[in-house]
Amino acid sequence: MELLEKRILKDGTFKDGGILKVDSFLNHQMDIELINELGKEFARRFAGKKITKILTVEASGIGIACIAAQYFHVPVIFAKKAQSKNLDGDIYTSSVMSFTHGQEYIIRVSKKFLESDDCVLIIDDFLANGKALIGLMDIIEQASANLVGCGICIEKGFQEGGAYIRSLGVDLQSLAIIDMDENGKMVFRKENE
Ligand code: 5GP
Repeated sequence: MELLEKRILKDGTFKDGGILKVDSFLNHQMDIELINELGKEFARRFAGKKITKILTVEASGIGIACIAAQYFHVPVIFAKKAQSKNLDGDIYTSSVMSFTHGQEYIIRVSKKFLESDDCVLIIDDFLANGKALIGLMDIIEQASANLVGCGICIEKGFQEGGAYIRSLGVDLQSLAIIDMDENGKMVFRKENE
């Protein structure tokens, strides 16, 4: 998606360890007009699919999922990372290795919010090694709900997650896919490449 690619080129910066910082518009300070366009693009890409819930993980995914949800007219569930007294009753849990923090964490979703007849779209900000998506997909499977697909804002195509998730037959739609050329320069993968 050209609008997002241009913004990454203008304001994104690469840090050591392959971490792309986009905190001026996506996951710290948030450009709502831009994210609104991302939401519309997710709606366009998943048009015609039956979707009853959007699932994301706290914290960065929440704002993006909420803006997108206005175009799908469905509730957003966000998997919680912290155990809390508010999280009562039966919960689904899955263990995720964090790419940015380098440690394992547990994600939790209340069983009452995911039913077996739900058709779930996962939305998140980044896709790197795919561990966050695998954890969210595991929770959908535990609920015997249906996974419709995954909508990602920025996929780092030079990491393994995207290829693995696609190899499972999942409809993975990434609005910008970043590859590295032979000189280590960032290039965007063209759609359908
Ligand atoms: P994965 O589980 O696919 O390895 O990593 C995805 C998660 O790690 C995303 O939810 C995102 O929060 C974080 N993440 C992965 N790579 C980056 C990155 O380059 N920049 C930022 N800001 N977050 C990232």
